[in-house]
Amino acid sequence: MYDIHQIRADFPILERTVYGKPLVYLDNGATTQKPRCVVEAITNEYYNTNANVHRGVHFLSQQATELHEASRETVRRFIGARSTNEIVFTRGTTESINLLAATFCPSQMQAGDEVIVSVMEHHSNIVPWQLQAMQRGIVLRVIPMDDQGNLLTDEYERLFSPRTKLVSIAHVSNVLGTVNPVREMIATAHAHGVPVLVDGAQSIPHMPVDVQALDADFYVFSGHKVYGPTGVGVLYGKEAWLDKLPPYQGGGEMIQHVSFEKTTFNELPFKFEAGTPDYIGTTGLAKALDYVSALGMDNIAAYEHGLTAYALQRLGEIPGMRIFGEAKERGGVISFLVGNIHHFDMGTLLDRLGIAVRTGHHCAQPLMTRLGIEGTVRASFGLYNTREEVDALVAGIERVRKMF
Ligand code: PLP
Repeated sequence: MYDIHQIRADFPILERTVYGKPLVYLDNGATTQKPRCVVEAITNEYYNTNANVHRGVHFLSQQATELHEASRETVRRFIGARSTNEIVFTRGTTESINLLAATFCPSQMQAGDEVIVSVMEHHSNIVPWQLQAMQRGIVLRVIPMDDQGNLLTDEYERLFSPRTKLVSIAHVSNVLGTVNPVREMIATAHAHGVPVLVDGAQSIPHMPVDVQALDADFYVFSGHKVYGPTGVGVLYGKEAWLDKLPPYQGGGEMIQHVSFEKTTFNELPFKFEAGTPDYIGTTGLAKALDYVSALGMDNIAAYEHGLTAYALQRLGEIPGMRIFGEAKERGGVISFLVGNIHHFDMGTLLDRLGIAVRTGHHCAQPLMTRLGIEGTVRASFGLYNTREEVDALVAGIERVRKMF
């Protein structure tokens, strides 16, 4: 049973008001709210167990290390990885992609070699590759999409050349909600001998993900988008790949032995984790993953699917409504414009009604160019949103529309 009232009671912030109105939080694509158990796990560790990890012989340090490494095991289980050696903790999706770009390109690519991305990528899956393009002359190839927001898989196949070295694509678009057929796209890439990085920032909170079933070579996500704390994220990589890559940053923890003549590096995953990790953050992340696992990712997916279908139907009834993203497989992200009301005006006026939505280009300017617009209003759902909140959004939009 998916008891939405009980679930909402786990998230204290949902009880607050904004401008005297009940908060309707529909900006989950940007970040999610935290259940009490996550905040308590973080507080509890600071109050009772705080000590630096992997370093001390003393009791607290050992306990903190055990917690931290248990969190790695929780992540491993959650995404179905083979080994905890394949779970690298980072600051988030952005750092995970930068880590990969900064280690993969210099070690696996020559000038003129190609990375395939898609037109619907978040800037964090474009700019790290462009930085490498500037430094090393690697080339970006872009998978186009149709007007409904489906990637063109025939075009994708045609992009492969002997110079293709990596494919890097979003699992779910943060603007269109499109769920890309990453399993099939990975199989295509593998048929060309090319590994694939999947940006799971918008999929991990909403659906079961099994990296081995997908056969993803790399999979990245952020803790804060899956009801965990900010400042912690994950890079999953197949061990064979991570073994081949050089370290990312230098510092404590990532070394085996240091001398001025020669330094050797630590084993996986520590080779990629220089410095004190956010061990409090990893505890919070593990607690968040336990929380969503207890609800069941299948249940969350089914609930959000129903909510999104309801929202699409209700929003579709509003005169002048334009929804961007009509892919058959879509998640709970709805981007829209109404008549010629500027997205910023719509967002600001909805805010006065207590409704939090995102406005702007959503860090996907190339996609905005493809759509021929500057920005949209975006409502994105989480596991605690309700049909009443969708109704409030619809009523709010109607009110703004009448003002114009
Ligand atoms: N990729 C996608 C698809 C996203 O939606 C986001 C955040 O909105 C990111 C990457 C970047 O995530 P973060 O800012 O947590 O690193």
